[in-house]
Order: sequence, then structure tokens, then C-alpha cells
Amino acid sequence: MKKRSWAEPYKIKMVEPLNMLSKKEREKAMEEAGYNTFLLRSEDVYIDLLTDSGTSAMSDRQWAGMMLGDEAYAGSRNFYHLEDTVRDVYGYKHLVPTHQGRAAEHMISKILIKEGDYIPGNMYFTTTKLHQEMAGGKFVDVIIDEAHDPNSEYPFKGDIDLDKLQNLIDEVGADKIPYVAMATTVNMAGGQPISMKNLKAVRELTKKYGIDIVHDMTRVAENAYMIQQKEEGYQDKTVAEIVKEINSLTDHATMSAKKDALVNIGGFLATNDPRVFEEARNMVVVYEGLHTYGGLAGRDMEAMAIGIKESVMDEHQKARVGQVQYLGQKLLDAGIPIVKPVGTHGVFLDAKAFYPHLTQDEFPAQTLAAELYVDSGVRAMERGVVSAGRNKETGEHNYPKLELVRLTIPRRVYTQAHMDVVAESVIEVYENAKNARGLKMVYEPKYLRFFQARFEKL
Ligand SMILES: *Cc1c(COP(=O)(O)O)cnc(C)c1O
Repeated sequence: MKKRSWAEPYKIKMVEPLNMLSKKEREKAMEEAGYNTFLLRSEDVYIDLLTDSGTSAMSDRQWAGMMLGDEAYAGSRNFYHLEDTVRDVYGYKHLVPTHQGRAAEHMISKILIKEGDYIPGNMYFTTTKLHQEMAGGKFVDVIIDEAHDPNSEYPFKGDIDLDKLQNLIDEVGADKIPYVAMATTVNMAGGQPISMKNLKAVRELTKKYGIDIVHDMTRVAENAYMIQQKEEGYQDKTVAEIVKEINSLTDHATMSAKKDALVNIGGFLATNDPRVFEEARNMVVVYEGLHTYGGLAGRDMEAMAIGIKESVMDEHQKARVGQVQYLGQKLLDAGIPIVKPVGTHGVFLDAKAFYPHLTQDEFPAQTLAAELYVDSGVRAMERGVVSAGRNKETGEHNYPKLELVRLTIPRRVYTQAHMDVVAESVIEVYENAKNARGLKMVYEPKYLRFFQARFEKL
């Protein structure tokens, strides 16, 4: 049979007009923003691929749900709807809502980590690692080596290296490891999935030693879709079934609902352990709000409950991940250097390969993000030496192995035609790469410098 095209499983009911500046205006806007895409006004951006966090389009059902908000301080009916949904769709027993994912990370870290503990994980995530450290723990990366190689085509680059995990257990002892931090699709590795086979093996190993698994389930449905597409034995299972199977192999979960769950704000902590639930339900009152709203309005919880159900539909993931794969394939066909294989939430450009004539001190990824904006009004994010910050002891830049520019695709927001415009712009910038001159940093804030640093052209 001939390969047939797919299309979005929805039609468009409301539109948000975009501004299209002239190239001259974009040059001026980029200069005024200090060549940092975080400092651009969103009004000056044509296609915004800065992040997939909180940028999704809600469905008419979700908007209707907003009108059903029960804004009672205690016992809102939207909380009970959300609780039922988390049980039905995700399979976790207990729910504590939070305003974002990081608030759930804060609580689970405080509850489970003791000073001097080690937390192995499949690559770090910024907020996750910070909360582990603030609770007295030390993060240890136990992801497979392939995850660090942009050219490795291994389909499950989110897998945990069982030898690395076993070695850590042998070295520090199981009583110093409260849990394994396991993320479904690994953000910092380029949105790479973990396989069910690997997760089952991790479950077996951790069970033997009485170690829990905390699941960062921010993109669990996208991971489930990749398992359905690529892992033997899962072709006939639905995304919803695979999501439940993944979750059943873990003990607790933190969620940023701003990603998979199709809302602009929201998150939660979920657990099967009644003691952890008891503590979290008490702690949330201190940091977020009462345990039946956790920093959210009733309407936010309603939109989240509906978004969760939509997120595990096969047709939705087919179009969501399909759009990311479409953009990635277009760039691969044109010979553009990107991280392979293409992940689920974005395409990562290899800026070092774009600009072999620039050193890391000339900020190749920052330069590429700026060039892309000037060329077409597409906004991307630097993931290179600027994001990596400085070494606390020596004050030197941390030089990461990779200089990447992330094109992150919001869910249900842009069309395939937008993806064509993005691809054509990337190709144009690649063709003109040898003319790029690099940048120098002229202002550097103390914390998370990539958000506010300013640059000038060399
Ligand atoms: C976004 C994200 C978080 C943090 O969630 P927030 O809602 O931004 O606080 C945690 N883990 C991963 C993998 C994420 O992508």
C-alpha cells in the first residue's frame, strides 16, 4: 500500500493573528534584545518555538470546562474530577495538585531525600536536579551513553544503563538511594523515549533493593506513542494502555501539566504510597494552597482533567509527534545537522556543525538562534555554553559537549505550512553559515544567565 498522509484530528474554530515584521525591523528587534531570544517581545515573533511549556492550544471542550469552574476554597468539584481522571487514566491512587511541575518536585524531594543521599536518574532536568540538591541529595546520571551522542540512531535513548545503576548501588549502598528519578521522554537528551523493556528491568532491580521509582511523567503520553511505534509487542496496544503500563511500574509521579496535558498552567504529585500522600497533602498547604486546589483555580483543574483525557488519544499523539517528525525529516532530507533520531517535542539543531569556524567562546548556538530570528521571525532557544553557565569553583564557562538550538513545537498551535516556513528558514541560515560572525557577552546575570544575558555582534 502507498504511504498515506495524515492530518490534524481537529479543525480550527478560533484564530490568533500573527505579526510579521520586515527583515529590517527584525534586525532592530534582535539588536535591542541583546541577541537573546528570551528578551524579544512575543509580539515581534512570527513562529514561536521557544518552548512547548504552557503554549498548547486548548480544545473547545477544555474551554467549556473553564466555565464549569467551581471556585470553592475547599472541596471543589473540579478537584474530584481531576482526582478521578488521574486514577482512571494514569492509574495512580493519590493526587495532590500543584501550580506547576516544580512544586511537586519540591515536595517529593523534601519527603523522600535525606542529607547525603544519591538520586540516580536518566539525565538531569534543571528544576528536578535543583530540588534534589536543595533537599540534600546528589544527582547521578545513569542514562545510557548513546543519549550523549547526537549521531547515535538508537531508538530508546532515554533508557537507563543498568550497569551504571548497579554500580552506584554497590558503591554507596541501597539505603543511600531513596529512589530512581525516571523521566518519560528525556527533555535534555532531545525528547528521547525510554523503552518498556528497560523500565521493567529497572523495576526488577529496584524492587530487589527496596528502592522506589519517582516518575517524571511530564511527557508520558508522547513516550507511550514512541513505544507503540518502535517497541516490539506494542503495535496493537493503545497509547492509553501503554501509559497505564508505564505508570504501573513506578511508585510516585511528578507532572508538569503544561506539556502533555494540554493546559497553560498546572501540575501535580501522584503516589501509590499512603504515607507519602499524607505528608504531601499536609506540605502542600504550606507552599501552594489547600490540598483540593494546590495553587490552581477550579477552572484550571477542570481544563487539566479534560486535557489529560485528550492527551492519551492515539490520533492526538499521531499528529502531535507526527508534526515534530515531519519537521525533523524535512531538515534531514536537506542535509541539516540535527540530533538523531528526532524526539517527540522538538528538533535540535547542531550549532557546532553549522559554524565550525566559531569557538564556544563565540557562542555558536546563541548566534544560530539570533540568525534564525532575523531570517524569518522564528524564535528558538539556545542550549549550549550560555545555558550551561559557569563552574562555581573556577568561575570559568562550563563547556558542554553540544551546542544546540532547540525548535520546540507547541501542541495543536501551528500547521504543517508553518513547519515548511521554519524548515526553509533553517536551510537558508545553514547555506549562509560561513558569513556568521559570532557574539560577545556584554551583560551576564548571576543566576540562570541564559534568560537575561545580553550580547553584541563580533
Ligand atoms: C517542564 C518540566 C519540568 C518542570 O515543570 P514546570 O511546570 O515548568 O515547573 C520538569 N520536568 C520536565 C521533564 C519538564 O520538561
